[in-house]
Amino acid sequence: MQQTKILLDESEIPTHWYNVVADMPNPPAPPLGPDGKPIGPEALTPIFPMSLIEQEVSSERWIAIPDKVREIYQLWRPSPLYRAHRLEAALGTPAKIYYKYEGVSPAGSHKVNTAVAQAYYNAEAGIKRIATETGAGQWGCSMALAGQMFGLEVRVYMVKVSYGQKPYRRSMMQTWGAEVFASPSMETHAGRAALEAGPDNPGSLGLAISEAVEDAATHADTNYALGSVLNHVLLHQTVVGQEAKKQFEKIGAYPDMVFAPCGGGSNFGGAAFPFFADKAAGKNVRLVAVEPASCPTLTRGHYAYDFGDTAKLTPMMLMYTLGHDFMPPSIHAGGLRYHGASALVSQLYHEKLIEAVAVPQLATFKAGVTFARAEGIIPAPESNHAIAACIDEALRCKETGEAKTLFFNLSGHGHFDMAAYDSYFSGKLEDFVYPEEAIRAALERLPKVG
Ligand SMILES: *Cc1c(COP(=O)(O)O)cnc(C)c1O
Repeated sequence: MQQTKILLDESEIPTHWYNVVADMPNPPAPPLGPDGKPIGPEALTPIFPMSLIEQEVSSERWIAIPDKVREIYQLWRPSPLYRAHRLEAALGTPAKIYYKYEGVSPAGSHKVNTAVAQAYYNAEAGIKRIATETGAGQWGCSMALAGQMFGLEVRVYMVKVSYGQKPYRRSMMQTWGAEVFASPSMETHAGRAALEAGPDNPGSLGLAISEAVEDAATHADTNYALGSVLNHVLLHQTVVGQEAKKQFEKIGAYPDMVFAPCGGGSNFGGAAFPFFADKAAGKNVRLVAVEPASCPTLTRGHYAYDFGDTAKLTPMMLMYTLGHDFMPPSIHAGGLRYHGASALVSQLYHEKLIEAVAVPQLATFKAGVTFARAEGIIPAPESNHAIAACIDEALRCKETGEAKTLFFNLSGHGHFDMAAYDSYFSGKLEDFVYPEEAIRAALERLPKVG
């Protein structure tokens, strides 16, 4: 009998997170403050607990996962690794396709892996309340759930277009006890300023971040939490790649290529970094970040210091960016619409140690539907990006006859994204390639540093 699901026991949930910094050839570029000088850890204490700040700047290879976090991970981890026998047959490819399914978490995506850790450390530090933002709603749901588990109040600023498009995500957050506002909101200076400038402002992730950071910075009992981009978020997500490695080990296989959708980079970092450890030790494995052609941060953005948010409240980070005032086209993969990318992912890409590709929207839905019809699971639109790139490679293998082992992270299910599938089926979805002109214009508004 051929194995379809490769499962681990709960005792095999990783005991440590893996920190890729330990294996990077060069140390990460430091974040800069408003004066253009590197900031110290103390600059972050108004919005983060010290334990997370220490993780943010750590270069230790392994960081122990607290028992209380592992106990909550036990609700859905280890997540299954699947061999996509039926997809392989449908494509007629000699490639062997595997995927790790993070949609088994209660919130339906990988994001809870870090939400639980962040809630734990904030609760330990005596924080009572978390302010955060959400785009598509995946992160807000994850933080709402994690906050509930550690007795924290959670306030979510949800990008206004998504607030309208995904009412059930809002209900989910409320079920887990969170308070949700459409952003721009009247709750903050940043929100009010945006509404004064244009009452129809549809919101953006950059703006919602400004609101949440302002909320946290102006309330002593409140901290901020981010669902991607930051080093400690990528760190927490490495449970995904570590489990996958163990699962491959069980069946005596190893991927030639790893694919993951890439917005801010935590999903990619989580799935790919543990494999990067092997690559750094000489193993031949290709790591591919997959992004939307409409928000092509890595493949077409500038590698420069930029702010993480619209109102320039965050430190500046050296990263690939489309400009902090980037207004994303309303594509449906809401989780991939951020203007920047993780500094760690950006640096590894800049040093040509990982790869990136951009895929147009229609191709991602076509791939997602092909996948759902073969494997059953309906993927999140974000996950469809990795599926599209993986299927492309599997079809190349079909031409060359190569039996490569391909692995992708199925970052979440699409049960709350059926409106996006509806648009696809009714022919309303369009491809949008981000214009060169807008990319050039962003360069002029980047902060002048050094
Ligand atoms: C947020 C999200 C992503 C993107 O993760 P990043 O860390 O921003 O790259 C991918 N898939 C799903 C299902 C998501 O919710």
